[in-house]
Amino acid sequence: MQILKIDHLGIAVNSIDDGKNFWSDVLGLPFEGAETVEAQKVTTAFFPVGESEVELLESTSPDGPVAKYIEKRGQGIQHVAFRVANIEEALAELKAKGIRLIDEKPRMGAGGAKIAFLHPKATNGVLVELCER
Ligand code: ZN
Repeated sequence: MQILKIDHLGIAVNSIDDGKNFWSDVLGLPFEGAETVEAQKVTTAFFPVGESEVELLESTSPDGPVAKYIEKRGQGIQHVAFRVANIEEALAELKAKGIRLIDEKPRMGAGGAKIAFLHPKATNGVLVELCER
């Protein structure tokens, strides 16, 4: 498996409009617009930072994964995403090593990326996303 870099940090927020006050207006990170991924009941907004990005996540529904996360833990870092060279290969390798996966096969994420999540029980409590762009 070839991990290329930390692609982004996913941050759960109540509202992207409010969240972008800090990330964009205060820190000055460029705001490149929001995108809704209906399958995951989430609207995302990316703020590039050098080679990586900050991703704000706002739930589109009270029963979406981001809404549930905020209900349990409050707003904050929800996942860390690593960019991999080949996501299918990475998932096969992790599965062979006995790592519990949330997604056995990649699905479509924001920006047309292929993404898959690993189970936090296998990663010291961190929700890890793999993505290939
Ligand atoms: Zn993400």
